[in-house]
Amino acid sequence: MLSNATREVKDYLARVLEDARVRKLMSFLEEDHSRLVDEQCEMALLEAPPLFERRRAEEMARKFAGLGLTNVCVDDALNATAKLQGSLGFGEVLAEAHLDTVFPFETVKKITRGNDRIEAPGISDNCRGLAAILGIVRGIQHAGIVLKKDVTFAGTSGEEGIGDLKGMRNLFMRDPARFDFCLSIDGHGTGHFVFDGTGSRRYSVVFETQGGHSWTDFGVSSAVHAMGRAIANITQIAVPDDPRTSYNVGTVSGGTSVNAIAQKAEMLVDLRSVSNEELDRLEAKFMGAVTAACSEEKARSSRKTDVRVCFRKVGDRPAGKQKENSPAKPLAMASSELLGIKYEDDGPSSTNANIPVYFGVPSLCMGAGGEGGGIHTVEEWFSPADGWRAVQQAALILIATAGLS
Ligand SMILES: [Zn+2]
Repeated sequence: MLSNATREVKDYLARVLEDARVRKLMSFLEEDHSRLVDEQCEMALLEAPPLFERRRAEEMARKFAGLGLTNVCVDDALNATAKLQGSLGFGEVLAEAHLDTVFPFETVKKITRGNDRIEAPGISDNCRGLAAILGIVRGIQHAGIVLKKDVTFAGTSGEEGIGDLKGMRNLFMRDPARFDFCLSIDGHGTGHFVFDGTGSRRYSVVFETQGGHSWTDFGVSSAVHAMGRAIANITQIAVPDDPRTSYNVGTVSGGTSVNAIAQKAEMLVDLRSVSNEELDRLEAKFMGAVTAACSEEKARSSRKTDVRVCFRKVGDRPAGKQKENSPAKPLAMASSELLGIKYEDDGPSSTNANIPVYFGVPSLCMGAGGEGGGIHTVEEWFSPADGWRAVQQAALILIATAGLS
């Protein structure tokens, strides 16, 4: 059952699809399929660890310029951006895909291309998204489509891990109301959508004590023991299922030797929620649990030696929920119906769209077609079969939000 809003959007999209230029664009995207996959492979060879996306950004900028976009630049956050001028003179839509991969330099040695399977780290996440952005620009230009609103196309930096959504922050921080809609294209898959953003805060927690010899100094506080207590305390924190909230102590390290009382220990902790309020609450409980553990360790030690703790925030992504009247979901559902695509709401996730949705800008994140697997591993693969269908859908959503002139 479609809601009223979705039915109205479906009628609107059906009219957009009747336009001869849009029909030309749709068939172009199907014909352009193998060129798009070639471009996807080219991108995979330009490595782009978070914060080191320059080569890939420059290549995207070069391609944007080659496709006739204006205002082409690589900004100070290493986003590659370019504009397709609209006819109205006001209003702007953002269509973006992240440039970075989780892999350090020297990970991509080669691309293995079989008939229906391509293997290379980052080939799906997110060379597929970048190639889709370029394919859509090429198609719009080929079909002679003029849009009402300006469209900024971007390859964005810092989506993965330590990047902390750096590129999107740079695009939105100065003027959060600049864009009316944001289309994020990320990875493979057809008909898969994310609307709400999972927020996360990440901490490095360092414990320090005077330490000593395991035999002669027995009774002084240990940084490793304090950290163990802290982890035990953290795992006692109760979090709600709704709004969904989670925590994880991801890595631990510390100590110098089996017969030394540890002077230093460190853990990395990931806190997540779809609600910023729950995230605040969880963060306070987490810090309380760690601080209590330090006191417990000191109290337990017969020599009552101090445990110092230092929290360093290493990640902070805001959570966000689409507004009640956001057109994102109706657009996704109605376009799926019209194009015969099986629609799937993947639930909240942490994507580049966290930033627009946090600022109340309607947005969605979608896959760019085909199939894939081994994401974030060196065995990452992509299978391009029917990949153009999701690219068509992304193009249709973009045209609908920017308006046909
Ligand atoms: Zn991605």
